Amino acid sequence: MLKRFSGRRRALMLAGSIFLALGHPTATWGQAAHVDQRSALESRFISGLSAAGYGENMKELTSRPTYPGSPFSAELAAKILARFRSYGWNAKVETYEIPYPRVTTQAVELLGPRPFKAALRESPVPGDAYTLQDKEIIEPFFVMGPDGDVTAPLVYVNFGLRDDYARLAKMGVDVRGKIVIARYGRLFRGGKVELAAEHGALGVLIYSDPHEDGYFVEPTYPEGQGRTPTGVQRGSVLQGKFLGDPTTPGYASKKGVQRLPVFSEKSNFARIPAVPLSYSDAQPLLEALHGQVVPESWRGALPITYKVGPSEAKVHLLVQHDRRMVTIRNVIATLRGSEFPDEYVIRGNHHDGWVFGADDPHSGHSAMLEEARSLGALYKSGWRPKRTIIYASWDAEESALIGSSEFVEDHLEDLRSGGVIYLNTDMAGVGSIALEGASTYSNFATRLLKDVKDPDSGLSLWDRFKLAHLHDIYAEATAGSVTGGGSASGVDFSSDRIRLGIPGYGSDHQAFFAIAGMGGLNSAFFGDSAGNSSGAYHSDYDDYEYYTRFMDPGFRYGMALAQLNGLAVLRVASAHTLPVEFTAVAEQVDAEVKRLVSLNDRLAEAIRHDDSDVRSGAYIALNDPRRPRLAPPIRPAPSLDFAPLERAAARIEACARAYAQARESGLLPTRGPDVARLNRALMAVDRAFLRSDGLPGRPFYRHEMYSPGRVWDSPPFPAVSDAMSDGDWETARKQIPLAAATLNSVADAIDEATKVLVQLRKTRGATN
Ligand SMILES: [Zn+2]
Repeated sequence: MLKRFSGRRRALMLAGSIFLALGHPTATWGQAAHVDQRSALESRFISGLSAAGYGENMKELTSRPTYPGSPFSAELAAKILARFRSYGWNAKVETYEIPYPRVTTQAVELLGPRPFKAALRESPVPGDAYTLQDKEIIEPFFVMGPDGDVTAPLVYVNFGLRDDYARLAKMGVDVRGKIVIARYGRLFRGGKVELAAEHGALGVLIYSDPHEDGYFVEPTYPEGQGRTPTGVQRGSVLQGKFLGDPTTPGYASKKGVQRLPVFSEKSNFARIPAVPLSYSDAQPLLEALHGQVVPESWRGALPITYKVGPSEAKVHLLVQHDRRMVTIRNVIATLRGSEFPDEYVIRGNHHDGWVFGADDPHSGHSAMLEEARSLGALYKSGWRPKRTIIYASWDAEESALIGSSEFVEDHLEDLRSGGVIYLNTDMAGVGSIALEGASTYSNFATRLLKDVKDPDSGLSLWDRFKLAHLHDIYAEATAGSVTGGGSASGVDFSSDRIRLGIPGYGSDHQAFFAIAGMGGLNSAFFGDSAGNSSGAYHSDYDDYEYYTRFMDPGFRYGMALAQLNGLAVLRVASAHTLPVEFTAVAEQVDAEVKRLVSLNDRLAEAIRHDDSDVRSGAYIALNDPRRPRLAPPIRPAPSLDFAPLERAAARIEACARAYAQARESGLLPTRGPDVARLNRALMAVDRAFLRSDGLPGRPFYRHEMYSPGRVWDSPPFPAVSDAMSDGDWETARKQIPLAAATLNSVADAIDEATKVLVQLRKTRGATN
């Protein structure tokens, strides 16, 4: 195992602790060391987890398609409910009514001299019986998009990012009045559709290019795990105006509530029609494009010359939906807390999939059920958590986080007053641990990672994570966030602690962070090698057969995920004082301020560059009439003052240091009321990141750092950076002091926690 690292130059530069570890793996990092740190209770929890049980749950709960409103969906919820009850939990189903417009007619056709009609269908795979269940498999489509019938020339927009449209403009290509075709990757599909609409496109096609997802990366299924030529990534194209049901902004979509009309201007549906395509359907459309050859970084892996377009032949895009409403079912299971019943430790994973959903979501969901089984066994034997534990099996995550968001809207007061932590998983994955979330839990998370063993290497998850970050053998390991959109986590080697990345948009943690202001973590394993992502994602092929062959045979990583999250639940639910601290908060805030300043530098530099190209006459002198370039307009360069944010970040650091000193200099309270008082003060720190009036134009998003950006990305301080990215410098200038005010209230909340701690020691004489 250690041979993998020998002889590498960077190994010589390792920090002391790593060097020690490489020399004496068992003494310092081995199992003996971490087993000692687990209590007897934790050991009983771990031994109650079963890979066989995990596999049985996955197999049974993915036997038929699981999308909201599917023939199996009510039975699926009933099965999950019965499991929780048999494990000893108090469980119930909470229902909501949501629009789930299903496609009735869908067509994508190339007109003109070489007509082509897209199949929009996934072919069954020989040897995989799941793919033959034709009657119940939902057709490939985008949910939460409008009806549309448009005929227009086609333009290729690469990934469909803001920068891609800027590049097209310089190439003299206007997407107004066109249909655009974008490849998947880099941005949530709903963000791609919204950016296309903002640039004046009439419709959008999004396809999986084999360069990112197909034969260029992996042999295709069933030979390997790569996406098949007809495989389509379904998904939601919801806008980012608010979370949850697109017709009930800010309140729970109970039966009979007032709703915005479906597909209306105010609702959160996508604004222009869109259709997902396989690469076999996309290729003839891309071949029909004329115009300039694309920039090199825009090229995919299809055997064609990629051109930007527009096409001479027009494309006809037709989508029509029914107006069906469906009942969605969250299964909510509870173990009541013995000391602090109004404080909640919440663990969630969704149960709806696009088709069978073995990887997404049942690889994570089966882990969650195993934890519930083992915690239930502890409960049956007489153990009682101090805090109330809630296990939640969400519905309609794939329609854009709807089940979990409705739950948060429905129970907002309880969550804001007593929500301690939200622990999310979705797809389990394999490889090194990937973790993102609230930095209040950075120390806590690091300790957990030290106490769970990586199935492949036998190292702790923490040691494998650190090695992945120190070595560039697998650069992809550290490149992304857990579920997309967030910023990557890292290692703070000086304090041997994880630097948690900003949570991305991609799963059910979003509403708990962005609306309720709870702390929490989102975890998965992440492939260290370039090509071990699932080519079955959101397709017909994401089934038990595929999962057990290619993803996690034996469910070893699924079990590690159950250990990690179950231990997290046990520890937070059993702690006297909440295991939060604020030094890492100061670091994360500081890193976000720096990310904002560097975004500004990048935008300013691009503007200066453009201006100098124009003023120097280069555009005219160097113009190649065969590949003409349009001069960009001269724009004002931004002048923003980030000092208020920098000062507030420095204040948080000072306050965090004062709290750490106070905490280290004496014992913590143990009496119930004192503990509760301190814990309320500690919880208030995460809550202080909420703005009372929400983000500009998006009042239901309240978190200053963990709310998604307007197009579902995770920019630093979205209130400020969204305006910057839109070139709206006036709004950005106004938002900086408002964001700084939020940071100052975070500093105040940390100060308050310090005061409470010191005062409790004085008046009661805390003992341990
Ligand atoms: Zn999922």
